[in-house]
Amino acid sequence: MKTILYQNADWILTMDGDRRRYRHGDLLISGNEIVDVGERLAEKHRATTPIDEVVDASGRVILPGFVNVHHHTWQSLIRNINVANGLVLEPWLQVMFEIFKDLTPEVARAGVYAGLGDALKTGCTTSNDLFYPHPVEGLVEATILAAEEIGIRFHPNRGFESLASNIVPPEIISAPEEIIADTERLVKRYHDPSRFSMCRVGVAPSMPQYGTLESLRAALDLAEKYDLLVHGHLAESRYETEFTLEKFGCRPFEWFRRHDLLGDRFYYAHCVHINEEEVRQMAKTNTGIAHCPISNMFLNSGVSPIPAYLKAGVSRIGLGVDGAASSNSSNMMEEIRSAYLVNRLTWGRDAVGPEDILYLATAGGAKTLGRDDIGFLAPHMAADLVVMDWNQLQYAGGCNDPAACIVISGDPRMVKDVVVNGETVVRDGKLTRIDEAGMCGLVNRVGRELLTKASVREPRLKADLV
Ligand SMILES: [Zn+2]
Repeated sequence: MKTILYQNADWILTMDGDRRRYRHGDLLISGNEIVDVGERLAEKHRATTPIDEVVDASGRVILPGFVNVHHHTWQSLIRNINVANGLVLEPWLQVMFEIFKDLTPEVARAGVYAGLGDALKTGCTTSNDLFYPHPVEGLVEATILAAEEIGIRFHPNRGFESLASNIVPPEIISAPEEIIADTERLVKRYHDPSRFSMCRVGVAPSMPQYGTLESLRAALDLAEKYDLLVHGHLAESRYETEFTLEKFGCRPFEWFRRHDLLGDRFYYAHCVHINEEEVRQMAKTNTGIAHCPISNMFLNSGVSPIPAYLKAGVSRIGLGVDGAASSNSSNMMEEIRSAYLVNRLTWGRDAVGPEDILYLATAGGAKTLGRDDIGFLAPHMAADLVVMDWNQLQYAGGCNDPAACIVISGDPRMVKDVVVNGETVVRDGKLTRIDEAGMCGLVNRVGRELLTKASVREPRLKADLV
């Protein structure tokens, strides 16, 4: 196993429990594991560990790889659709579902190249992916293989829709037995619960508007049988609150509580429309949260009460870029900066600081995904890290506190190298495993074909094909 020493970094932000930082720090990795982090590691390990490669990290800041806890990768192909821009969640979903009817494994694969390729290039080393429309078979499988190809640590969630409505068309509805059989097949083939696992499969029942109770119960039974995480959306839109109040006589959170959907096994995107008592319950039950500020801004959903969650003791809380059709990119650096800014705007003096936002993007995200082997830099943790180059003109004059510089002034130009499981999968800002230009052509072609097919049924989409 190759041993690499990253030497003399301007700063190393470990993001461990004590948020330890090292000025002029070193990081030693061997294979896919961190051996040590600290100061003067060459001297310390000379007698015991032969070092194969020394990387001069002067002028750099090293931190744990970012963890993206909510995504819908295939949506990367249907971004910037004119008729959908400016809509709130539900009418926006109606447009999206018309396009989803034509999803194919090739679309799923292309979505990973575009979505997770972008995520990797912006410092993300682990990503969730929630796949819920299934007009054909093999979609989640295609994403798993594509994620493996580009080299990102992957948490795919096999979602589903089991209830047709004015939003969800019947073409993508599945029967509970089909859903469970396909999910179980994926779990048996790809789910790896071991330490440093590169793929963990989860389930993602649609609830409460888009799924039946029968399919929900079957999905939860499967999750218990294989000890899988359950992921979904909670309290995203105003309509969702109105819908559950009218149909079930309770708020969305209460509906989740009544159906045993809170606890260590669960984590939910958005959690925007949550009151003070519900915040306390989220903390008490250790339910995870994916904060997706750009998507919430784009769809005019609202702002998740992040300072209140942290104050209440929610530790399973991470950042999510959400599907690129609602956030329009998979850029973790942009999500980090936006999270800081929208929380400042909304919560004023109570807002969280730059290092708290970095917690969400690293250790908090790892906890959300139920992982104790990624998210911070320490001996015996996975070698997942980002090497930031802040020694560039655009950051000059702002290289004071490294967390503040990354969160408030940072952007993807800062991301130099990204290491996943000990392998450099981004070098000098470029993906190392695939030909980016070639993939760009493929993604554009597949996205165009998808839109062309949908435009036959939905003529308003033709405006985007000009
Ligand atoms: Zn989502």
